[in-house]
Amino acid sequence: MRVAVVGGGAVGTTAAYDLADRGASVVLYEKGEIGGASTGRAAGVLYDAFAAPEDARVGDRAIERFRAFSGEGEFEFRETPYVLLAREGDRKRADAIREQVPRMREADREVAFADPDELRDRFPAVEWDDVGVAAVAENAGCTLPGAYADLLAEKAREAGAEIRTHTAARLDPDGPSVETDAGSASFDAVVVAAGAHTKRLLAAAGISVPLKPYRVQALTAGFDDEKGSLPMVYDATEGYYLRPHPDGLLSGDGTEEVESDPDEWKRDADEAFVDATRERLDHRVGDFGPVEDAWAGLCVATPDRDPLVGELRDGVFVAAGWQGHGFMRAPALGEAAAEAVLGDSPVPEFDPTRFDGDEAFEIVEGMAVD
Ligand SMILES: Cc1cc2nc3c(=O)[nH]c(=O)nc-3n(C[C@H](O)[C@H](O)[C@H](O)COP(=O)(O)OP(=O)(O)OC[C@H]3O[C@@H](n4cnc5c(N)ncnc54)[C@H](O)[C@@H]3O)c2cc1C
Repeated sequence: MRVAVVGGGAVGTTAAYDLADRGASVVLYEKGEIGGASTGRAAGVLYDAFAAPEDARVGDRAIERFRAFSGEGEFEFRETPYVLLAREGDRKRADAIREQVPRMREADREVAFADPDELRDRFPAVEWDDVGVAAVAENAGCTLPGAYADLLAEKAREAGAEIRTHTAARLDPDGPSVETDAGSASFDAVVVAAGAHTKRLLAAAGISVPLKPYRVQALTAGFDDEKGSLPMVYDATEGYYLRPHPDGLLSGDGTEEVESDPDEWKRDADEAFVDATRERLDHRVGDFGPVEDAWAGLCVATPDRDPLVGELRDGVFVAAGWQGHGFMRAPALGEAAAEAVLGDSPVPEFDPTRFDGDEAFEIVEGMAVD
């Protein structure tokens, strides 16, 4: 079976590897560098703390594979607990966490409520005085996302896939064929894993999907962990997260709930985001060092916040729409896309044909607890 994968981010490289490893003849087209788009800009926060059973299964499989790949090439999965919290007085998010944690546990996730004293004992480097409700997810970690895409591209190559970087692909409206500046090639299947460009690429082939790219931001800053190492933290009340990072720490949020043009968007972080993050870090971890780097990138929303993974039209498959959770689920969702091509339908809830493609919807922050 001949399969084209369009997009060399975390998802496309995983799909290419799994397809090649299971015997398909694969060509991966990447218009820039491997991991050079959203994947290279991601924070690398990884966890399986999802309440819906299908999300929990996908999260579990993803973390299992991250652990299995850790140590290969430059890729390292750093075990790091993930703390989810709502502040005192924030009833709405506190109720949402109280409702979700038992469902996560029913879905076999290793998540437990923790009070401020327990958090202080376990993670003394962080300020917990304002916590109303918190839970700690243990099956979690962090990494540098570019290293994952590089590793999976290398593994795909070793399994026999051809990786063509700096090669923009277009889809043929008449079937699973791909056109590049060098000519056209026919395949039995094409997997479109083109991140923020997925909607545009499919639209040019006459296929409409309800995807909206939106901008998010992150920064790294120095941090001295003499008081103890940092866990990953998501403050649902303020809507930001932080994680330990080789620079010290990384913190992000800044979701712009408006659709971005996938080609025309501001790559640098906004000053307002950097100022707000400094205040949040000052409150949550006290002293931190200078801001080393600050940037923006694109995520992609869907109407129901669930992704599109599967066949859209004879031989044309999509794998996109991660609502800010694409990297942490890439090992499972790239695999699911590969399995869909090979004849399985592993995540029926993510079937892309559940939409007509012209749905009107609002962008909602991916990590929002509501
Ligand atoms: C600041 C920030 C922080 C984030 N933090 C996290 C996090 O902590 N955890 C998490 O799970 N997710 C996070 N995300 C989201 C995450 O980055 C994405 O969900 C994930 O990287 C998507 O991977 P992908 O392979 O689908 O897309 P991409 O990495 O965008 O890959 C798509 C690729 O397709 C290529 N392409 C596009 N058009 C064409 C074409 N015509 N021909 C050939 N190639 C083409 C692009 O060049 C690109 O390399 C974050 C995102 C940002 C911006």
